[in-house]
Amino acid sequence: MNSGKKIAIVGVGISGLSAAREFVNRGYEVTVFEKSQGLGGRASTRRLPWAYVDVGVQYFTASDPVFKREVARWLKRRQVAKWQFTPAVYADGAFKLSPDNQERWVGTSAMRVLSHDIASNVDIILQQRIKHLEPCPRGWRLVSENGPFEYFDWVVSSLPLEQALPLISNHSAMLNNISPPHRSVWALALATKGLVPPFIQGVFSHDTVRWLSRASLKPGFKRIDQGDVDFDDVWVMHFQESWSELKGRALPHAELQAVASRWFNKMLASAGVCPVSVLASHGHFWKYAQMNAPIAEKPQPFVDGTRRIAAIGAWCGSGRYEDGFLSGLSVVSAIDGA
Ligand SMILES: Cc1cc2nc3c(=O)[nH]c(=O)nc-3n(C[C@H](O)[C@H](O)[C@H](O)COP(=O)(O)OP(=O)(O)OC[C@H]3O[C@@H](n4cnc5c(N)ncnc54)[C@H](O)[C@@H]3O)c2cc1C
Repeated sequence: MNSGKKIAIVGVGISGLSAAREFVNRGYEVTVFEKSQGLGGRASTRRLPWAYVDVGVQYFTASDPVFKREVARWLKRRQVAKWQFTPAVYADGAFKLSPDNQERWVGTSAMRVLSHDIASNVDIILQQRIKHLEPCPRGWRLVSENGPFEYFDWVVSSLPLEQALPLISNHSAMLNNISPPHRSVWALALATKGLVPPFIQGVFSHDTVRWLSRASLKPGFKRIDQGDVDFDDVWVMHFQESWSELKGRALPHAELQAVASRWFNKMLASAGVCPVSVLASHGHFWKYAQMNAPIAEKPQPFVDGTRRIAAIGAWCGSGRYEDGFLSGLSVVSAIDGA
């Protein structure tokens, strides 16, 4: 008999994980399908030859009481820590410290620790890109490159809207009137040699670069012990959306690194710091990164109860990690009842 309790979730970012864990806690049978090799989506951690580095999410904030409770649980287990520093702004060639009251959280030994924590009781199938969905009399069939998976009572997409549309729009019109919300961002992780004083940790900018993080001063930073790059620091740089989209995914790595190195040393000079040299770098083009504008203040899931299909993701709110977590919980309430 169809119990209505067999759920397929597509995508293993924070929204898919938070939904999956809550469905499991409520007695549902859940399978999560993920196209890549690891957990976390845009909050995954790269194991570079020199260190574990978050190339997407740099830190997260917590404002909703439910998410704050989760952060408190992680804190008790020492899986998160506050990243305390005074942010700086580098604009029009001038460097200025710009104190604020924002609490910034990071996963200790990077963001991967949080995805692994949430995923501990969840059935996840990695390296399965779901190509399309087929409605059948007994429920949904999900088709990947490796074959079909069947039958599920509900399908929940936790993909960025742009990736969810090709899966969902043949079956439901619920997403049809939403404009694609995301802009692209080039990210570059850099290992550098040269001493930089600790007041430079997080820098906002308005020109080619939008943000610079000093990963090596985040709590729990982990270098690779046998790494052959003798660096003093690891940084993550995010480029402006307009610059990233103009250059596109095909931008040669050497050009990206040269632009980064020039910007970096100009910024250091404006703060009165000697130049550093770049020993190694790793670039990633995030096609779906910054949101144009929030879709909702508090993330709400899109649910088509007739077709038994739903869509969640950080994009259902304002695109932050916290929104992803909350959108995962909200779809469980919508399907199971609050
Ligand atoms: C460069 C950058 C910087 C950011 N900085 C911050 C920050 O500092 N603070 C903050 O709060 N937020 C930040 N964010 C936003 C944050 O990353 C997102 O809000 C959140 O991680 C998104 O989670 P999600 O579950 O909605 O989606 P995702 O993490 O994108 O998860 C979707 C998953 O679906 C998988 N997938 C896609 N298509 C398929 C398919 N067909 N079949 C199977 N699997 C599929 C993807 O591989 C991915 O793992 C940043 C994002 C980027 C890109």
